[in-house]
Amino acid sequence: MTKPNKKERTLVIIKPDGVQRSLIGEIIKRYEKSGLKLVGLKFIVADEELVSKHYLSNPDWIKNVGQKAIDAYAKVGKKHPAKNALEAGNKVYQSLKKYITSGPVVVMVWQGMNAVKIVRKITGGTEPLTSDVGTIRGDLTIDSYEIADVDSRAVRNLIHASGSVEEAEEEIKIWFKKGELINYRLVQEAILYDVNLDGILE
Ligand code: GDP
Ligand code: MG
Repeated sequence: MTKPNKKERTLVIIKPDGVQRSLIGEIIKRYEKSGLKLVGLKFIVADEELVSKHYLSNPDWIKNVGQKAIDAYAKVGKKHPAKNALEAGNKVYQSLKKYITSGPVVVMVWQGMNAVKIVRKITGGTEPLTSDVGTIRGDLTIDSYEIADVDSRAVRNLIHASGSVEEAEEEIKIWFKKGELINYRLVQEAILYDVNLDGILE
């Protein structure tokens, strides 16, 4: 059995709509309460170069996002306006660059066991209309693929969260220099990870 990595890291961005909706505290609170550890944090306005590096770090991303869009339409018995996955993905990518650079964003790195999956679970699915109740996207906003596409813009879903460990490693390198991430001990890690709970009783 391979031991899970207790120091797995993932990148989270509170997108401009999250900042504008005054949800920074509410969103950070949800990740913080999970037991994950905040190891990097910055408040910046991203430029297009940074955003293109971020989304194009995975060469398959454009096609995958396009296919996901086409499938989401098919699921509700509708036909996506684009003629193939590449065209659909490119449209999403262009509108995303505009969206992410439109105002300040909060960029964070969260660390802990299964950090990528835990953060995705707390964040919820891409489309707020269908993401689960109890998740950030499901509870705190209302957008849908359809209305975003009709208005030729990206789905406003408050958060970016890395989709896999590999994606996270690439993305963290784009947004943070080595010295900007902090290695430190959080006392609650003893409760989360230590084999024995010795030392609680006096
Ligand atoms: P995520 O990992 O859940 O953020 O989703 P993706 O990586 O697939 O897509 C990146 C971002 O592009 C999403 O968070 C949305 O803001 C936007 N987006 C994704 N799919 C669509 C779509 O079909 N239409 C529009 N308009 N925006 C989309
Ligand atoms: Mg993604």
